[in-house]
Amino acid sequence: MSKLTKEEFEAYLKQIRELAEGPFDAMQKDIEVTNKFPEEFYQLGIKNNLYRCSLPEEYGGWGLSELEILKIQEEFSRGPGGMRMHLHYAMDLNWRPLYDYGSEELKAELMPGFQDRSVFTCWAVTEEKGGTGADIQTRAVKDGDDYIINGEKFLISHTDCCNYAYITCVTNPDADKDHRLSTFMVPCDTPGYEVTPMPHMMGCRGSGHTGLKFTNMRVNKKYLLGKEGQGLEIAIHSLSVSRVHIAASNLGMAQRMLEMSLKRAHDRVTFGKPIIERQAIRMKLADMATHIHALRTMVYDFAKDYEKDPKGEYIEEKAAMCKLFSINTVKLVSDEMLEIFGGIGYFEDCEYGPTERLYRDCRAMFLEEGTPTVQRITISRQTIKHGGVLQYND
Ligand SMILES: Cc1cc2nc3c(=O)[nH]c(=O)nc-3n(C[C@H](O)[C@H](O)[C@H](O)COP(=O)(O)OP(=O)(O)OC[C@H]3O[C@@H](n4cnc5c(N)ncnc54)[C@H](O)[C@@H]3O)c2cc1C
Repeated sequence: MSKLTKEEFEAYLKQIRELAEGPFDAMQKDIEVTNKFPEEFYQLGIKNNLYRCSLPEEYGGWGLSELEILKIQEEFSRGPGGMRMHLHYAMDLNWRPLYDYGSEELKAELMPGFQDRSVFTCWAVTEEKGGTGADIQTRAVKDGDDYIINGEKFLISHTDCCNYAYITCVTNPDADKDHRLSTFMVPCDTPGYEVTPMPHMMGCRGSGHTGLKFTNMRVNKKYLLGKEGQGLEIAIHSLSVSRVHIAASNLGMAQRMLEMSLKRAHDRVTFGKPIIERQAIRMKLADMATHIHALRTMVYDFAKDYEKDPKGEYIEEKAAMCKLFSINTVKLVSDEMLEIFGGIGYFEDCEYGPTERLYRDCRAMFLEEGTPTVQRITISRQTIKHGGVLQYND
């Protein structure tokens, strides 16, 4: 399919919003208990082109701009957090490391499968005993044309619905911290690959979190992405873009919470007046709207930078800023929403929308792909490098 016209794209955004707040919201009631997506959810994703639309055109994608992709992300993030987590991953990190760093042979074999979910991955970096970066301990040792992988990961999303895993391992233990790691794209049916259980999460139910254990797992060298020692670069580059997708998710959630709060503030009458007439409530609405506007501006600015040069000088810094600010925004907006709703906002079945679920769901995004502290570490490093000066788009 070729690029969409403006009208077609607007219609598509509307379709995705209706899907998120309609069938997806309705389906989530059971998922809160089962913690598992029904097949119907995946089928709706395929039918509505959510696995396909962001892919590069040569692999079945629509040739959308980064801005258009982020706008789609914003719309489906109005729905349940677990589905947002799955689709946000599907639209970017799912395929990007293979596309950017895989060999032509591996890309030809696997890239076409992303459009209909016949290829789906998980991204396994975090470790309980190591960390999320240069201190990783999972080890891959070269043995002829293969690598033997041993180690453990935890907190890994999508492990119940993936058939490949991107695994970050140590291949060069004596190298400097920037060149110790490598990334492999491993078929999940490889002997020695094991899924280990984890408890239910606070929110984002259904998105399949477990640990992973690798015991003498033999993986052919064709599954190595890029070169040995490029693993940290792959993680940083791939996560930069994905962090902005999280920022766009926070934007979609925050926008829905503001709209719900406005409606409730109009309807709720205390002491003879709708609470929207109270200055105290209006100040809250003003803060919510201002944060959302600033976040949207940052996300759209990043999209323009990215379209100019995906590996540009300010990508890493602006991506971390988008994520950090989006966390502050969604934290403020969800807190103010709960105050505006009063007690009824704390209950599951609120007629204005899922206040209680949105409040829980958005908290995952404080942690996914790096805490606020980690974003600040990235930003400060880049700010020092750039002498405190950022580049802006016209
Ligand atoms: C919903 C969810 C989904 C996730 N999905 C995935 C996934 O699919 N794949 C994956 O690999 N991981 C995943 N994670 C893990 C996530 O990336 C990590 O939880 C996150 O990066 C924080 O790492 P940690 O949990 O090990 O915290 P820790 O590293 O233990 O950090 C604890 C605290 O210490 C601070 N801290 C740690 N190191 C430093 C430092 N050097 N300097 C200053 N402060 C520091 C942190 O900011 C934090 O406040 C997921 C997590 C969640 C909650």
